[in-house]
Amino acid sequence: MKPHLIFDWDHTIWNTEGKGGPYPDAEVVIPKLRELATLSLLTHGDESFQLGKLGRCTFSDAFNGKIWVVPNPGDKRSILELIQKKATDYHSIWVIGDRRDLEIQFAIELKLNSIWVRRGRHATRKLTDSVGEPTHEVSDLIGVLTVGDSIWKK
Ligand SMILES: [Mg+2]
Repeated sequence: MKPHLIFDWDHTIWNTEGKGGPYPDAEVVIPKLRELATLSLLTHGDESFQLGKLGRCTFSDAFNGKIWVVPNPGDKRSILELIQKKATDYHSIWVIGDRRDLEIQFAIELKLNSIWVRRGRHATRKLTDSVGEPTHEVSDLIGVLTVGDSIWKK
């Protein structure tokens, strides 16, 4: 079963510093992961604004038709509904993001595989509760590709 990678957007793929733009590693890694997996993007806020950001990336078509915008990133129920509605195989899902207190916590609670990308302004955020451990922890998207090369390649 092909893995289904659900990516967080800001600070995972998109660098919000300065004028904003994709992290350079995303331009390299997303096209490669696309060969290995189905890719979805999970984000929140204004849909047209987020799509405009994606349009500035060379890999924008890697997420064609699989962009999930939720009104509130803290709303686990709406994320779970999206996953149940849109993902074909629950066990093939991997959640990849920079926020241990948001998407990674949801993944752990929902018993989904997860990769915590420890970068961006939230990387050093202190957690009030113990949320459990992500399946993998990496420092950038090259790390995600390294994980993928070892477990998603046939
Ligand atoms: Mg994020």
